[in-house]
Amino acid sequence: MRVIIAGAGPAGMVVARTLVDRGHDVVVLEKRSVAGGKVSAWQDEDGDWIESGLHVFFGAYHNLLGFLERYGLGNTFNWKPAEMIFASERHGLAGIRFTPWLPTPLNGLAGVAKFTPLSLGDKLRMGLGLIRPIFGDQRYVDQQDDESYASWHLRHGMGQRSLDEVMHTLALALNFQRADKISAKLALTAMLHFAHEKNAPKMALVQGSPDTNIWRPLIKQIEDRGGMVELGRKVTGIAYDQASNQVTGFELDDGSMIRGDVYVSAMPVHNLRKIVPESLRSLDYFANLRHLKGSPVITLQLFFDRQIAGVDNLLFSAGTHLSVYADMAMVAPEYHNGGKSIMQFVVAPAEELIKLPDDELVRFVMSEFVRLHPVAREAKLLKHTIVRIPNSVYQARPGVDKYRPDQASPVSNLFLAGDYTRQHFLASIEGATISGLQCVERITTAFANGTLTPTYEVMASG
Ligand SMILES: Cc1cc2nc3c(=O)[nH]c(=O)nc-3n(C[C@H](O)[C@H](O)[C@H](O)COP(=O)(O)OP(=O)(O)OC[C@H]3O[C@@H](n4cnc5c(N)ncnc54)[C@H](O)[C@@H]3O)c2cc1C
Repeated sequence: MRVIIAGAGPAGMVVARTLVDRGHDVVVLEKRSVAGGKVSAWQDEDGDWIESGLHVFFGAYHNLLGFLERYGLGNTFNWKPAEMIFASERHGLAGIRFTPWLPTPLNGLAGVAKFTPLSLGDKLRMGLGLIRPIFGDQRYVDQQDDESYASWHLRHGMGQRSLDEVMHTLALALNFQRADKISAKLALTAMLHFAHEKNAPKMALVQGSPDTNIWRPLIKQIEDRGGMVELGRKVTGIAYDQASNQVTGFELDDGSMIRGDVYVSAMPVHNLRKIVPESLRSLDYFANLRHLKGSPVITLQLFFDRQIAGVDNLLFSAGTHLSVYADMAMVAPEYHNGGKSIMQFVVAPAEELIKLPDDELVRFVMSEFVRLHPVAREAKLLKHTIVRIPNSVYQARPGVDKYRPDQASPVSNLFLAGDYTRQHFLASIEGATISGLQCVERITTAFANGTLTPTYEVMASG
């Protein structure tokens, strides 16, 4: 079968690599000049790497780690200790360290017990409040989708301080929104994995750039097996034949049309919505996509003339817009440019900040950063880079989960992949990987059931 895939983010690349492995002919069309989507990286004129976002990989990412392992890319990570280090103006650096020799969930609870920003009362209230999800299952967690996490947290008696010191930060790291804007399901799903799997909280960063270590090797593997990954090719329309209920081609921005037997949208949901054919828009499956809106987020890098934080791990911050950050010169030594700090920040919530001009944004981030790390006041800022993403992962607001689409669409040869589609994990690289694998299974099943009839080769030869 010839499969046309729009989008070379993690989901599209998983679909392409897996289908090539199964002997299919794949063409990936990517509108940007780099692959990797929100996990892409590229070099600026000085040779420094710019990333769409600071990307952390967890031990819980079984599908992604398995996928990379299967294709010889399993050794691409720098694994860090399982510890969430929080920086705050009041408490300095304080960590929740998962105790390696204790079984789950005691390993995490022991870490919380030693977390100094919370009082003994806060910790006890948290322990009691989280009993149900910790010892519960995904079914219970799924039922909490209609309530915000903040409301769920307070309703379970855990109090405001643990929300402010820990949970708003976790929500921002997960979805770039504070805990009053995300569904309880999202935060509880993350906690469920941490509470049940010993290795889930282990964190890793790519040893160097994801471009060099993941996307280019995958592209080469796909092309060596006869597939194509075409960068700088934007899909602008979906040609749809109502009579046969089939997609007949993807229209491209140069006016050409590309045809295959099967079509996969691995684009983010807001890009797909723009090109859903008029005659399909009223179907619930496509109409419901309007509920899935992207979260704005900014990735900002500050290059300093000296080392600042001195922490070889991720840092989370409470009470600022620097939800997650790291010194790339330490955590990904291949980024090192001579003993200096390259602080990379995920800036959120970003609804207002994203509109600021560069110099104001840098001033704002610096003002929050020096509150957390006063030593930065003495350092010289050598350069900065900024990536604004107005529509990143879909906002997992209360009640939205039910609108996520299955990978098989009502159109017989159109399938969806992407972190926003229905899969049991969060909108993340792991979620995108699961969506890609599920998409492949839907295509394979449709083909085996005879609901998918290859027409491309017939058309091409006729
Ligand atoms: C700042 C930031 C930090 C993050 N940190 C983490 C993290 O630490 N851990 C984690 O697990 N996840 C993280 N994520 C989330 C993760 O990046 C996403 O969940 C993941 O990239 C989703 O993959 P995807 O393939 O579904 O979509 P995307 O990565 O968005 O890929 C979609 C691709 O489709 C392309 N495309 C769009 N329109 C068209 C078109 N018309 N024609 C052709 N191509 C098109 C896009 O250019 C893109 O390459 C982060 C995201 C951001 C923004």
